[in-house]
Amino acid sequence: MKKTYLSKSRFTAGLQCPKRLYLTVHPPEMPEEEDGGDSLPILNGYAVGDMACKLYPGVMVEYDQGLSAAIKETIRLVADEQVQRIHEATFSFDNVLVRVDLLERTDAGWILTEVKAATSVKDYYLNDAAIQTWVLQGRGLKLAAVRLMHVNNQFVYQGDGQYDGLLHAEDISEIVYARLDSIGAQKDTFIEMLAGDMPDIEMGEQCYSPFECEFCAFCQPDDLPEYPLNALPRMHAPRREALQASGYEDIRDIPDGVLQNPNHQRVWRATCAGEEEVDATELAELRKWGWPRFFLDFETIGLAVPRWKGVRPYAQVPFQWSCHIHHENGRMEHVEFLDVSGDDPRRACAEGLVKHIGKDGILIAYNAGFEKRVIRELAAMYPDLTDALLEMNERFVDLLPITRNAYYHPSQKGSWSIKAVLPALVPELNYADLDGVQNGGDAQLAWMQAASADPQHRKEIADHLLAYCKLDTLAMVKIVDALLERNEHV
Ligand code: SF4
Repeated sequence: MKKTYLSKSRFTAGLQCPKRLYLTVHPPEMPEEEDGGDSLPILNGYAVGDMACKLYPGVMVEYDQGLSAAIKETIRLVADEQVQRIHEATFSFDNVLVRVDLLERTDAGWILTEVKAATSVKDYYLNDAAIQTWVLQGRGLKLAAVRLMHVNNQFVYQGDGQYDGLLHAEDISEIVYARLDSIGAQKDTFIEMLAGDMPDIEMGEQCYSPFECEFCAFCQPDDLPEYPLNALPRMHAPRREALQASGYEDIRDIPDGVLQNPNHQRVWRATCAGEEEVDATELAELRKWGWPRFFLDFETIGLAVPRWKGVRPYAQVPFQWSCHIHHENGRMEHVEFLDVSGDDPRRACAEGLVKHIGKDGILIAYNAGFEKRVIRELAAMYPDLTDALLEMNERFVDLLPITRNAYYHPSQKGSWSIKAVLPALVPELNYADLDGVQNGGDAQLAWMQAASADPQHRKEIADHLLAYCKLDTLAMVKIVDALLERNEHV
């Protein structure tokens, strides 16, 4: 019988849910998803890994010749006392295979370092480190310490390729050593489970924590209710589970009087009635808005390894904005900014805002706290533009809470994101009709691709980005129009 190996990622999949591990080893048939390329978190992970190799240079164990060759090469490097640091050292012990991000030789023994792109130590990282430690100890390596290296969010890039201080290592030896006893027993349980039938595990909280499981589509029951209870906004899991235990699967199954939270009651009423619910008193605010109205939306990029001077890891740097300007006489203008060159976009971004947004009128954003924060950071960066930018922030109104309080349609399924609200209020506008970029995640990836694309491809990506951001601000204009129209008819 073929031996089943557990890698670190399989092991941690099993800790999240044994069925996830089973399905990883025995993949089911699932509809193929379009490959949209690596997500930004994955690209950030690669960038942090590369930076760890640069800041702590050592010998890399390559994987291109296969697993056995990598293990052999690791044994050779461990035996060579001239080698101080090894990246991706590969070990196997008792059916468990691991690759160690960074292994450093010291007089007291080896220091094992797990590198993560996050900005703090998370509990599930400790399991990653414990599995590796268990294997290395099993192979007879003497360990001096186990460390978790993560991004230091206090770091500010000063330019000239100086990244000393970007990564911060914490000693996690004690917590990891305390977990070692359970690893061997856990491994035996997993190996035994993998030799049997697929475990019978229902979907639950574990499917989304610490990661969204890739087998949700497989495990989802075929007879999913049209309006599942998780469409009741922000309902705590125990309350939802209690309702399910009472036999309610669909929001419409719940009898009158069971839900106490006013927002849950509103969602329940609209869903049972099968029609939108509008609260006219909440819309009074819209009527008071002044003119002109600047509907503004930013697209930003948050890089773990900052590229531009004065930027912290994961700071949201704006590379694009769109603004629809609605005048009192009904005239509509559209202005926009986009930089996909890969150079620092902030100065031109800030100057464009100051140029196009005058001193009169209001600024409108959907979840305005984000736009205001971006503007505040630009204001702090450019003293000559500070006053003009901060003055804009005084004139913001937030369309999200107004929409949330005033409107609900059953098709929103508990969400007031602009992508959930738009099809209900303005069905003729649709993000799905856009080419290439259809959400903020797509926009960030598009920016990453554009920065290294040839001119023609870059132009194509830029067009997709412009169309996407323009739709975001047009959507706000149309949502306001549609809400005012509802107000007239209530
Ligand atoms: S979707 Fe949920 S139940 Fe199914 S394998 Fe993943 S974590 Fe387990």
